[in-house]
Amino acid sequence: MEPRHAILFEPVPIGPKVLPNRFYQVPHATGFGAMKPRTQAAFRGMKAEGGWGGVCVEYAPVSRDSEETPAVAAEIWDEQDIANLALTTEAIHRHGALAGLELFHGGSVSVNGASRATRIAPSAQGAEIIWAAGSREMSLADIERVQVDFVTAARRARDAGFDIVYVYGAHGYLLTQFLSPVTNRRTDSYGGSLANRARFHLETVEAVRDAVGSDCAIATRMCIDGRDSIPGIHIDEMLEVVEMLDPLIDLFDVNVGAWPEDSGTSRYYPEGHERPWVMRVREATGKPIVGVGRYTSPDLMASIIRSGAVDLIGAARPAIADPFLPHKIAEGRYGDIRECTGSNICILKEESFAHVGCVQNPTAGEEYRRGWHPEEVPPIDQPERTALVVGAGPAGMECALTLARRGLAAVHLVDAGPEIGGHLRWTRQLPTMGDWGRIIDWRAIQLQQEPAVEVITGRRLTADEVADYGADIVVIATGSRWASDGTQPGTDAVIARADRALTAERVMAGERPAADQPVVVYDAEGYYVGPGIAELLALEGYDVHLVTSHPVISPVSDATLEGDLLRRHLHQLGVSMHTGVVVSSLADGDVRGEASVGQEWSLPGASVVLVTHRQSDDALARELRHKGLSVHVIGDALLPSMVSEAVFDGHRLAREVDGPHPDYPLAYARERPGGGA
Ligand code: ADP
Repeated sequence: MEPRHAILFEPVPIGPKVLPNRFYQVPHATGFGAMKPRTQAAFRGMKAEGGWGGVCVEYAPVSRDSEETPAVAAEIWDEQDIANLALTTEAIHRHGALAGLELFHGGSVSVNGASRATRIAPSAQGAEIIWAAGSREMSLADIERVQVDFVTAARRARDAGFDIVYVYGAHGYLLTQFLSPVTNRRTDSYGGSLANRARFHLETVEAVRDAVGSDCAIATRMCIDGRDSIPGIHIDEMLEVVEMLDPLIDLFDVNVGAWPEDSGTSRYYPEGHERPWVMRVREATGKPIVGVGRYTSPDLMASIIRSGAVDLIGAARPAIADPFLPHKIAEGRYGDIRECTGSNICILKEESFAHVGCVQNPTAGEEYRRGWHPEEVPPIDQPERTALVVGAGPAGMECALTLARRGLAAVHLVDAGPEIGGHLRWTRQLPTMGDWGRIIDWRAIQLQQEPAVEVITGRRLTADEVADYGADIVVIATGSRWASDGTQPGTDAVIARADRALTAERVMAGERPAADQPVVVYDAEGYYVGPGIAELLALEGYDVHLVTSHPVISPVSDATLEGDLLRRHLHQLGVSMHTGVVVSSLADGDVRGEASVGQEWSLPGASVVLVTHRQSDDALARELRHKGLSVHVIGDALLPSMVSEAVFDGHRLAREVDGPHPDYPLAYARERPGGGA
């Protein structure tokens, strides 16, 4: 270990427990919660195996009027929940780490989809979510009952083996609702002065501490001011609350702003962007503090600890991208760290599909159901075989690397481009998208370390050349192209005179629309490419109109928590935004279409960049199959999708290539949670 990083591996006492080092996986949602206990255990246990000294489970509602359906949380309501969560604490303890559970009440933002309970809040409030009916003011009996629920849940958490019990007071939930004078308009002893507004938080922590404080460390998670702060509470007031809580708390887990800021994407927030706010907490407490910041640089981590501002390096996303980050730092294997890209596709997958995933780590979430380990692959049958992987985009790179790691004698990775990386080579050139290049960079380093791998760039293989290669395993990873024929995704309706438009790839290859006309970037995909091209052209001085068929600009960016920022950003750059418009014709130099309720829409005299949808570049695969060659097609060449899926696909094929039908994924273990009273 480099002496300058030794500070990261010092033990840290927290109340009655001792964290073995300063690497701390803060609570974060996965979609596993109470529904997939074995998946949860394997996922969290892997982080402990990789060296994280503290590993937490996601938020666990304490009461039935804080029930999250259709989202999935870690419920802790009965013996079955205790038994299920004990699988996770055992998996964490097996590797010497401490396990934490985040007890929570959502108050006015509780969904109560299954419980159908009445929503409660410090003061009556109108509905914030579409199917909600607002919330009613909590009576004193409600307050007492919720505090009892916290205590009951804390006892269950202790019985499940948790070492750290949180009273969760961040991200706008019930405790924060009490703290904010905007949401707390009570006139009794729980409203008014700061001491009164903090009373619920303090009393709850005290009750939890009295119940389990000699067995467990008591943590609280709090929001400190940021650009997107709690309404009505300034950072100085929050520091006063920290001071009040100080005697009761063993660990302060500090976050900044609301979730989109706290889990800010790399597009808009640099590594450690929370630091200016988090470091102020030390003014109010001498107790251990953990803060996050998408930290992947060991030098930065060590300098932050040395500064005394925080005691632990908190991480959610970097721990998903690399569960073995601490071990790699300990062993000085810096180039092996799979750095988080800050894409937030993990959050998209967890929120949309109730199963976390990662662009960098294809094994994330697959530890139990597919038995995958992020650092180990099983040896391949017949290692004397050779493989040819055509196309070095994310799918091809990951596949070639994994085949080599499995012990194959020779793996050739061939790409027509001047460098490896596929479509990510230009994605990383889009404004604000630079950190996505980490997907290439990590693989480039790893491929270099594999003696069996030969990377050949600048060579476009024909079907005859692939056949002549004579490789035992042929993988086609030739990717996809943006459609230039004007077909619309979904309907396949054709845009007239689409030949007049540029595609995203042509713009990124250096072509430009006419400078004396407005430019329409037509985005029917709804993710980052349309806005990225619009931003690029706006920065070059074009009069840009971003037109989308979707009801909002870039709906996918809402799922990655960056939609609001992205739209604000485009607005500041002077990009005009048009939503709900289906473009139908580029004839006569105009752009014409139909807006959402059927009215005609047009922009005269505009050039166009089409970002409609991608089509697989599978001609090579078809030709080879026609010749009778057996080939495996992966990634966007099979079906254009998100980069996480291309990486997954390449990884999966390499792991399962010995199976009876490698093109069809092997069955994975499903989970049905146990019953319970
Ligand atoms: P994916 O996302 O599925 O990994 P990409 O589109 O990112 O796919 O990458 C595909 C890569 O395949 C590109 O870098 C492209 O240059 C390369 N490619 C396509 N056809 C050939 C070919 N015939 N020979 C070599 N490389 C090819």
